[in-house]
Amino acid sequence: MVEAKSDPKVREKIDTIYKEVLSRNPGETEFHQAVREVLDCLGPVLTKNPEFLERKIIRRICEPERQIIFRVPWQDDKGEVQINRGFRVQFNSALGPYKGGLRFHPSVYLGIIKFLGFEQIFKNSLTGLPIGGAKGGSDFDPKGKSDDEVMRFCQSFMTELCGHIGSDTDVPAGDIGVGGREIGYMFGQYKRIMKRHESGVLTGKKLNWGGALVRTEATGYGAVFFIDEMLKARKDTIEGKTCLVSGSGNVAIYAIEKLHQLGAKVVACSDSNGVIYDKNGIDLDLVKQLKEVERRRIKEYANHHKHAKYTENGTIWDIPCQIAVPSATQNEISGENALKLVKNGCIAVSEGANMPTTPEGIHVFLESKIAYGPGKAANAGGVATSALEMQQNASRDSWTFEYTERRLAKIMANIHQLCYETAEEYGTPGNYVNGANIAGFIKVARAMVDHGLV
Ligand code: GLU
Repeated sequence: MVEAKSDPKVREKIDTIYKEVLSRNPGETEFHQAVREVLDCLGPVLTKNPEFLERKIIRRICEPERQIIFRVPWQDDKGEVQINRGFRVQFNSALGPYKGGLRFHPSVYLGIIKFLGFEQIFKNSLTGLPIGGAKGGSDFDPKGKSDDEVMRFCQSFMTELCGHIGSDTDVPAGDIGVGGREIGYMFGQYKRIMKRHESGVLTGKKLNWGGALVRTEATGYGAVFFIDEMLKARKDTIEGKTCLVSGSGNVAIYAIEKLHQLGAKVVACSDSNGVIYDKNGIDLDLVKQLKEVERRRIKEYANHHKHAKYTENGTIWDIPCQIAVPSATQNEISGENALKLVKNGCIAVSEGANMPTTPEGIHVFLESKIAYGPGKAANAGGVATSALEMQQNASRDSWTFEYTERRLAKIMANIHQLCYETAEEYGTPGNYVNGANIAGFIKVARAMVDHGLV
C-alpha cells in the first residue's frame, strides 16, 4: 500500500498522545479502540498541517467537552426500587449542537458511551450538516420490561437529562434499545418539566408529533446506498447479490428492505441469541411483525417458516455471501469471521452498526481490497436524517417521503465521494477507513482552530 508521507516525529507524537489517552481513561477498552483507529490514520494529515499539532487539536478532540453521569431511580411493576446509571457525553460542539443517540443496554458503561460519542464527532462531520458529536444512554435493560416500566424509567432518565439538552444545545435520538416508544416517553417528560413543546430537542420522534418521514428507515437505507456507491465505483451493482444482515433491529430491518428493493437477496439475519437462515430470502414482513410489533426473539421466525433454519448461538458470518451488512453491535466481526467472509466470496461490507469490526477484521478487509465501508461513513444516514428532522422542526414543516429519501441518497453519495477522494488524495485509493477518518477529522479540526482555545 502506498501511503501518504507521515513524518516519523509526528508518528511518535501521535503514539504519545495515544498512551496518554490510555492512562487518562483506564479500562475504557472500546473508547481506546475507537481512538486508535482514528489516530492511526492521522499521521499524514498532521505532517501536512503542523498547526493541528501546535494547537493540540488531537489531545483536545480526545477529551469530551462535558460528561454527565447520573443516578436513575425508578420503580418496577412489583413496586421494587431499581437503580440504573445514566450517561450523556457531550464530546464536541465545533460543528453544531451536540447530536447523537441514547443506548439502553445492560453492557453500557462510560467506555461504550465514549467510543460511540467519539465516533459520532467524525460521522456527523462527514454528513456535511451542522451537528456536533455526543452520545448517551444507560445500563437499563429494556428486554422483558413492561411498557409501564419502560415509561417510568424514561421519565426518571429525562428528569435528570432535561437540564442539559435543548434544540440548540444537545439533541439526543435513539440507538440500541431506544426507539419511537422511548423517545415518546422522554419527549413527554421533557415537555412537562420544561413547559415547552420543543420539537427539535429529540429526533426519531413519531410522525404525529414532530417526527420526520424516512428517519426510521434512514440508517439501514443509508448503509445500502453506501454499498450501491462503493459498487458503482467498481462498475458493479447490488442486483442479484446474496447478502447477510446481522441483527434484526431497526438498522437491520431497513437494510434488508432496501437490499430487497434493489434486487438483492438477504438470506440471514440474527439477534443476540442466534441466527436465522432462510435460503428463499428473509421474509421481512414477518421480521417486522416479530420485532417491531410483538417485540419477540428472532428464533420465532422458524415457527412460521419450517424451511428456515435457526442456530442458537451460531455465527452468521460463516454463511456464504457477496454482501455483508453488520447491523447488530460493536466487535461482532472478528479477524477470523472476516477471513471466512472473504474466503466465501464476500465483495462488499457496509457497517450499519457502530464499530462492528474488530481491528483484526478491518485489517483483513483492507488487505483483501474488498469494498469496505466503515460505520462512520456507511451508517451516517441515520444521524443525517435526524439533522433533516431538526431542519423540518425548525421551519415547522414536513417533507414527503420521496423528497426526504432523495436527500438521504444524495447525502450518502456525497459522503462516499468525500471518503473516496480523500483516500486517493492521501495515497490509499479504495481505503474508506482512511478516507472517512481523515475527511471527518479535518473539518472538525479546522473549526476548532477557528474557535480559538476553547
Ligand atoms: N444512534 C445513531 C447513530 O449511531 C443515530 C444518532 C442520531 O440520530 O442522533 O448515529
